[in-house]
Amino acid sequence: AKRQGRNNYQMYNAQIEGLSKTDLHMETLLHKALDKQEFVLYYQPQYDAATLEVSGIEALLRWNSKDLGMVSPADFIPLAEETGMIVPIGEWVIREACSQNKEWQRQGLPPVPVSVNLSLRQFYQTDLVEKVGLILKETKLDPKYLELEITETIAMQPDIAIHVLNELKAIGVLIAMDDFGTGYSSLNYLRRFPIDHLKIDKAFVQGIQQDEEDRSIIATIIALGHNLNMPVIAEGVETEEQANLLKSYKCDMFQGYLYSRPLPAEMIPAKFK
Ligand code: C2E
Ligand code: CA
Ligand code: CA
Ligand code: CA
Repeated sequence: AKRQGRNNYQMYNAQIEGLSKTDLHMETLLHKALDKQEFVLYYQPQYDAATLEVSGIEALLRWNSKDLGMVSPADFIPLAEETGMIVPIGEWVIREACSQNKEWQRQGLPPVPVSVNLSLRQFYQTDLVEKVGLILKETKLDPKYLELEITETIAMQPDIAIHVLNELKAIGVLIAMDDFGTGYSSLNYLRRFPIDHLKIDKAFVQGIQQDEEDRSIIATIIALGHNLNMPVIAEGVETEEQANLLKSYKCDMFQGYLYSRPLPAEMIPAKFK
């Protein structure tokens, strides 16, 4: 819903202002960014709530544009989605994350899954499963060390979604339901989707101290996840108070600035010590 809201807002903008020049300019540059190797992945560790050991790592895309400087994914992913460029970019992300995770394992780090965000467009590509399978072969990464993060929006086409998810599970990758509670929620589909982790959006986590409603939403999401046998991850954990409250609700994993910002790949090994 967040993403769609953004797109709508951009379209609205373009309509009232005439075609946005900056958007067109950005689109031209985005087209060339892959070839120019301007994309880079940052990595943010996820921590086991009980042991505080690293139990996963999320890959987050960055665009280091020669012309625009560092562009945040929030500013270019909606455009990449509208234009379809998210498909080749997203494929690059999966390959890069798998190959980096394999590299960490070669260096002797304890193996953990790397999580990659999938946009809706990618999820519905007919050759997604085939491509993921090829990338795993190519990079020699054991499928259980790749997790794909999807959002509730996939439930808008539930039959296709269940089919794709089952195929992905069949090749052995993990699935996380991202931004849970912010979008099109359907508890019925949640039960039918083969999901390994539920991720609570940082919007709820950040309200946890002040807002009783956010607290009860979080408690409910965690209980729901556990009833469906899904460990729950909280993103956007910034303070000890948030972590303690989340722990009291039996949240399983934490991710956020309190523990680590997203980092360049070479800074990840130090997080295991
Ligand atoms: P997301 O998947 O919900 O990722 C979490 C966002 O929260 C990331 O923003 C992360 O850097 C940020 N974050 C992590 N810890 C904290 C914290 O403690 N406090 C706060 N305030 N923020 C925190 P980022 O990296 O800017 O990414 C924004 C969104 O862009 C992501 O949201 C995801 O939806 C999308 N995205 C990022 N990389 C990719 C990608 O490779 N493919 C696709 N399709 N989308 C991506
Ligand atoms: Ca995510
Ligand atoms: Ca997301
Ligand atoms: Ca989120």
